Amino acid sequence: MGVRPITKPGSFLVSPNLVDYEAARESFTWGDAGEQLDGLGDGMINLAHEAVDRHAHGSLKDHVALRWMSKSGDVRDLTYGDLSEETSRFASALRSLGVGRGDSVFALSSRVPELYIAALGCIKNGSVFAPLFSAFGPEPIETRMVMGHGKVLVTTERLYKRKIIPILDRLPDLEHVIIVSQPGRPPIPGTIDFDHFMASGDPDTPAEAMDREDAALLHFTSGTTGTPKGAIHVHGAVLHHWASAYFALDLHPGDIFWCTADPGWVTGTSYGIIAPFVHGVTNVVDEGDFDADRWYGIIQDLAVTVWYTAPTAIRMLMKAGDDIPDEYDLSSLRFIASVGEPLNPEGVYWGERVLGLAIHDNWWQTETGGIMIANYQASEIRPGSMGRPLPGVEASILALNDHGDLILTDDGSAVEILEPLVEGELALRPGWPAMFRGYLGMDERYKDCFRGGWYCTGDRAERDADGYFWFIGRGDDVIKSAGHLIGPFEVESALVAHPAVAEAGVIGVPNEVAGEIVKAFVSLHHGYEWSSDLERELKAWTRKRLGASVAPREIEYEPDLPHTRSGKIMRRLLKATELGLPTGDLSSLEQEETDHEGP
Ligand code: AMP
Repeated sequence: MGVRPITKPGSFLVSPNLVDYEAARESFTWGDAGEQLDGLGDGMINLAHEAVDRHAHGSLKDHVALRWMSKSGDVRDLTYGDLSEETSRFASALRSLGVGRGDSVFALSSRVPELYIAALGCIKNGSVFAPLFSAFGPEPIETRMVMGHGKVLVTTERLYKRKIIPILDRLPDLEHVIIVSQPGRPPIPGTIDFDHFMASGDPDTPAEAMDREDAALLHFTSGTTGTPKGAIHVHGAVLHHWASAYFALDLHPGDIFWCTADPGWVTGTSYGIIAPFVHGVTNVVDEGDFDADRWYGIIQDLAVTVWYTAPTAIRMLMKAGDDIPDEYDLSSLRFIASVGEPLNPEGVYWGERVLGLAIHDNWWQTETGGIMIANYQASEIRPGSMGRPLPGVEASILALNDHGDLILTDDGSAVEILEPLVEGELALRPGWPAMFRGYLGMDERYKDCFRGGWYCTGDRAERDADGYFWFIGRGDDVIKSAGHLIGPFEVESALVAHPAVAEAGVIGVPNEVAGEIVKAFVSLHHGYEWSSDLERELKAWTRKRLGASVAPREIEYEPDLPHTRSGKIMRRLLKATELGLPTGDLSSLEQEETDHEGP
């Protein structure tokens, strides 16, 4: 592969959880993870009990669970005891509103402590927590809340006024809006003040006993076509949260852990909320946005030991300059991991050279609910590789035909590629605890993800002779920008809603920092002319509807958008042309555009 592997020392200051990879793969069972947890008797469980009450009722009652830094740099701590009381209050107050098991509670909030209390309080009550990214515009919020039958929304005053009021009459299931606002602000008519709500709750309410298969979380993710998909995760996923953070993040008691992802995305929930609490460590949460000095300052001042971040953030830190980290004492750090998009080998080496620790890439997706493939503390890193499957996880590369479809044998099983370094579909053997249990209201789409005995991830990858997996690209048209998965259809729909736009084709184009950025090609209705004013107007139009993180950064006029015979826009041809790549055999491209839809 032409990269220098990073070998590991024979001994570590803190003994790694996973020392002998092969032996752990042989011996580990998910039942071992279950033994680390409490359960609630009779096979029942509650994810929030495992994350919070288990520690609050034991020796970690006064241990700091959440160490929150406000935008202005103030630090507020909540112990496991505090978090247990607050989440119980939230759960019981929800119950008195008539919100119970299986009802969905959405959150649209910046990273404030109330968001974390709401997430775990909702799960404690047996309700389903559905986080939304606070940078979404009103349209993605509306689509997701309608699809998820959001009965309750927890939000902030600012977000409520800017993003919810404009769509309020289009949210038929929404019964209660709970607002987090600055102290002393007057109540907002028709809403419930968060502090009042909490005051009405009982701090001793125990967690609802749930079946392992009961839904706990609803995460929306984007596909190539149609609406987003709501991936359902269950209470039993907590076994996976525990095991993956144990093996892949090497969490130990006493760690101070910082996951930089926003809980609006799955990493920010599985590892920004659940996993660190399940391990009883201190979970650092920063309300602020990226800023190199701020970030190094947090590692130094809050003495972060394990840091989980993303390639875009690493590239931004690299860009900010290698002299900045010199000004900080980063010696508390002992493990760094990254996820969400390909991590270039330079990023791994940069960590080693500048931060004194190589960065451990790992791979997973919304549907898997937790880390599946990882580079581990005590194992050699092959920079550019996502690493090897977690103990308990079986991953493989499956053979595809020229149309990108799985090759199936007569008995319906898929063909695994055992030869090293041959590209195919990255697939996982179903059965890990955090596996999604459905796409809300889309049974067929869910079933389509499972083929030939495997869950097909929609990613293309290869495996080397030693079992390390190497990411190649997506098998579909979804766009990964700054680690966020964006569905081109959602962007195209917002563009064609503008009176000037006849058709739109949206693709991701490579970008040095964000990995990819969203680019749109549009054709116009008769009577409209392309101009820089119209381009600006379309950018503003999409930003207002979709939010800045989803809206196209570039829009180009293309009067002859390429179509398949059935009339669909051929995004792949647009992309090949944009990137100056061979356009290949157009008939097979047409076929793919028409038929293939990854998960
Ligand atoms: P999401 O569901 O938003 O978490 O996005 C999941 C997708 O992000 C995966 O299917 C991959 O395409 C991509 N991804 C996640 N982690 C990695 C990684 N370590 N390397 C390359 N791509 C990744």
